[in-house]
Amino acid sequence: MKNKSGFECCFCAKTIFENNFDPCNITIIGNSEINKPKDDRAELLFWSHLECLKEKLNPKTQGYLAVFDSNDDE
Ligand SMILES: [Zn+2]
Repeated sequence: MKNKSGFECCFCAKTIFENNFDPCNITIIGNSEINKPKDDRAELLFWSHLECLKEKLNPKTQGYLAVFDSNDDE
């Protein structure tokens, strides 16, 4: 959700200030099975801090976010 201060994190509800990877967007596609018609899908977009997203994922899934770690020092 975007408010007048900027993007609001869907997990912590705080404003997301722009940095390396923030704001992240998380897109949810409902009814996303491949064989179903695209018109039957529902799509919704959320914003979050990368760190808030990491906290919510299980350790194995967090590994997929390692792609974002390579540029943390920039
Ligand atoms: Zn957050």
